Amino acid sequence: MRIHHTVHHNGYVNNLNKALEKYPKYKSWSLQDLLLKLNSLPKDIQTAVRNNGGGHYNHDFFWKIMAPAGTTKMSAALENAIVKNFGSVDKFKEAFEKAATGRFGSGWAWVLKKADGSLYIESTPNQDNMLMPYNSIKGKPILAIDVWEHAYYLKFQSKRAAYVQAFWNVVNWDKVAELADLK
Ligand code: MN
Repeated sequence: MRIHHTVHHNGYVNNLNKALEKYPKYKSWSLQDLLLKLNSLPKDIQTAVRNNGGGHYNHDFFWKIMAPAGTTKMSAALENAIVKNFGSVDKFKEAFEKAATGRFGSGWAWVLKKADGSLYIESTPNQDNMLMPYNSIKGKPILAIDVWEHAYYLKFQSKRAAYVQAFWNVVNWDKVAELADLK
């Protein structure tokens, strides 16, 4: 996790800043706006902002929804919402694990809260996320897992499923409930 944060995440931040050097006016835009309005950026930096701005946003989110093992617990309101949407907590975990292990190559799996209040599981390739205009499914992310090899290779080698399983130990359920407005 330390290497993931200090090397990989840092790389996305540096490369995003580098991409914006040519067009200083976009430096005042929020990260969120850069991603939401990707299509209106100059063509020659769209890919760099998509990959590195997405990388910065996704990792920033990822660190916030983790906590030391055993320090947080799913709120009753969140559990109720999960049961209502997926049938049971186990089925929810199964669906999330399937999205995470089933994503071919690099990407992310997400739990989203849609505007109608329902919870939804989706995965995205590379460093894409729901803010970007390429995604038709919109929602507020409340949980995510990075399934790039760099996220698990040092500890789990090629065993992505074992990493996804272990991830449940470090989910910050307080933060997830807060994001879902289900505290
Ligand atoms: Mn990563």
